Amino acid sequence: MFKKKLIIITMIFVLFLGLISCMGINKFKNTKEEVESYEMSEKILGTVVSGVAYGKNSKEALEKAFKRANYIENIMSVNIKDSELNKVNEEAFNKDVKLSNELYYVIDKALYYANLTNGALDPTIGHVIDEWGIGTDHAKIPEKDVINKYKSLENYKNVKLNLNTKEIKFLNENVKLDLGAIGKGYIGDEMRIVLKEEGIQSALLNLGGNVVTLGTKINNEKWSIGIRNPKEENEISASLKASNEVVVTSGNYERYFIKDGIRYHHIIDPKTVYPAKNGVVSSTIITKDGIDADALSTATYILGSEKAKKLIESLDGVEAFFIKDNMEVIVTKGLNNKGFRVR
Ligand code: ADP
Ligand code: MG
Repeated sequence: MFKKKLIIITMIFVLFLGLISCMGINKFKNTKEEVESYEMSEKILGTVVSGVAYGKNSKEALEKAFKRANYIENIMSVNIKDSELNKVNEEAFNKDVKLSNELYYVIDKALYYANLTNGALDPTIGHVIDEWGIGTDHAKIPEKDVINKYKSLENYKNVKLNLNTKEIKFLNENVKLDLGAIGKGYIGDEMRIVLKEEGIQSALLNLGGNVVTLGTKINNEKWSIGIRNPKEENEISASLKASNEVVVTSGNYERYFIKDGIRYHHIIDPKTVYPAKNGVVSSTIITKDGIDADALSTATYILGSEKAKKLIESLDGVEAFFIKDNMEVIVTKGLNNKGFRVR
């Protein structure tokens, strides 16, 4: 059985969706004046991206932000045949290939986090992702020889980026880049930049579980973000307060298939090349930028709560909480400053 990607929706967003019957311009009463708002949603990188922006220019701004998202999707999706990423994957073994600034930036970040997490995040496991096919209609457990071929390859060490020429080269033919763990984080950041450039001071984006905040709510309060219970689809496990921050969750309930009673989900441990099974079922990161949060939520899911807590506490400006399979909640030291509450 396949389960479509589920979206974690902020509590506030749920409220707004309840208030607003369809997409379009709306007027919200602030204490002093009416504030215009606009909301829209689209499918991007296989997931529903929705956003609401407040202020005069909200319609134009949000439309521009979604255009930017489409532009980046065309660069880094593996599901768009002539994407730049697919071209790189075809050409870069033993050959220098020039990258766009966008792709260079994201690959560089992905490799940085691969090193930081000792390969828990490894953007070069594209072939393994293809073999499992989780989230597609041909998901399956790969054959033993396939597993053995790709196990613990640490291929992230086999990608050379040249900062001066913005070129990439793969040193091993098994390298295939997959930016699924980090791409949505980057898209959210770029959408927020566009909104800011357009003068928007209050907005909320939800990219299938990556919640991006810009400014505060129009009443100057921080946004309240609810994190779903990994075991109960319509329940909230915890909540956080955020302003100009992103809250990103990776969970085993997002994309998976079940065979012989075992759930095979889409976050792969590169050491075993099986779905990660280190005790965490949901990993949430709160920090300034989505690209960092997205990389870290995937990596910490794989590392397990003990190593994950240590890693996050060693980083400035990043907090996290992890829900274990027995529903125990592990939090980093500074999380309570983010209005964290377990429900
Ligand atoms: P989601 O995109 O569902 O929110 P994640 O951000 O955790 O979830 O990313 C999961 C996606 O990242 C997978 O669908 C796959 O494309 C890719 N991926 C899975 N395991 C890894 C890994 N260990 N390192 C890098 N990318 C991974
Ligand atoms: Mg991620």
